[in-house]
Amino acid sequence: MKRIRGEKSEPFSIDQASVRATISARHAYDTAVSTTLEIVGEPTLPEVKMHLVAPNAPATARVTANELCIKGRSSSYVRHVSIDLSGTPMAGQFRAGQSFGVVPPGNDYQGRPNKVRLYSIASPTWGEDGHGQIFATTPKRLISEEMITKPGETQAHPQLILGVCSNYLCDLKPGDDVQVTGPSGKRFLLPTDPSKHDYLFLATGTGIAPFRGMLQELLAGPPAGSPWQKSWTRCGSRIELLMGAPYNTDLLYDQEIQDLAKAHNNFKYHPVISRERRVDGGKGEYVHQYLERQLDAFKDMLQNPRTLIYVCGLAGMQIGLFRLLAAKGLAANYLTIDETIRDIPAEKWTDEEIKRRVRHTHRCMIEVY
Ligand SMILES: Cc1cc2nc3c(=O)[nH]c(=O)nc-3n(C[C@H](O)[C@H](O)[C@H](O)COP(=O)(O)OP(=O)(O)OC[C@H]3O[C@@H](n4cnc5c(N)ncnc54)[C@H](O)[C@@H]3O)c2cc1C
Repeated sequence: MKRIRGEKSEPFSIDQASVRATISARHAYDTAVSTTLEIVGEPTLPEVKMHLVAPNAPATARVTANELCIKGRSSSYVRHVSIDLSGTPMAGQFRAGQSFGVVPPGNDYQGRPNKVRLYSIASPTWGEDGHGQIFATTPKRLISEEMITKPGETQAHPQLILGVCSNYLCDLKPGDDVQVTGPSGKRFLLPTDPSKHDYLFLATGTGIAPFRGMLQELLAGPPAGSPWQKSWTRCGSRIELLMGAPYNTDLLYDQEIQDLAKAHNNFKYHPVISRERRVDGGKGEYVHQYLERQLDAFKDMLQNPRTLIYVCGLAGMQIGLFRLLAAKGLAANYLTIDETIRDIPAEKWTDEEIKRRVRHTHRCMIEVY
């Protein structure tokens, strides 16, 4: 059942087959074909500004704050870095959920000028300051070991690798300049009317960044004196955040998110820890395993045409979710499944099959890296 924009809605008489068909048609044809039709449950996303500053001519912004945002002592280091965009074309022109670029100075390990890296904006659309001039991001120091073969040697040796841009960002001090580009991204956004939807947010690690901005936008609202105050209304929709981390101490923005959950009973926060035993003695789990164990509590929500799923974090985290949705008969609104695997039980799909043969619809937003 298609609905013309503006017509009275009948949200529960959804015809899934026609929704699926329309969505695949949308993927197949130019978007202009379907701009006048609205699919029930599909979000209307705002128009956003993109690429106002290009990587070949980055803008100079200034760091205003840099602090750890990790819950406890941990072997990973994640910081909350605030950047003042005043005087750049990006000031006041970004939205929660978008990303931006950082161009680190100097050359890479192969002698070429360092390239731009993307980071999620962790702020609401009005920024950290309420005026859209300062936004924040959540860089994690990349620290790893690679087997390197030096020129003239035949054997590879382990070598410590410090990621160029993440460590550069984490080392910046308030007052330091930083070269930025963007903003980028037009799909990982809150809808124009947030109250029309419910939200299932799934994050791992720094994937929490866009959700921090979105939660402030949905629940906390702009600070006093912000021009966004006049138009903002609190969102009373159901909002559930599943935040995956290896250890409890690795949770990010934990206190801030707990405070939001305490203040707003339409928002629930579920920390999901993978490498520690649960309080009930059960094994640690990933976010999709938590969702499966708690499916009774989420089933109604997943079947409700209001619900949007947002996934952000480690590349591959969507695979377990896709397999779960399909295995439990909950995929119709969120996934299109290629006919070559439709008759195979979802539990048997390989990761490769999921990557190649399962696509997400506009009701399932994915940002993984
Ligand atoms: C849309 C989007 C949003 C993102 N948001 C965030 C975010 O909010 N927070 C965040 O932390 N990250 C985010 N990222 C990831 C971020 O863009 C970077 O990829 C990440 O910070 C690592 O960059 P780096 O410069 O530190 O590492 P790099 O220096 O680029 O290193 C990456 C890899 O290159 C190889 N390498 C590097 N140096 C050497 C060497 N000397 N010899 C051999 N191999 C080497 C290693 O395999 C290393 O692991 C996001 C990515 C995308 C696409």
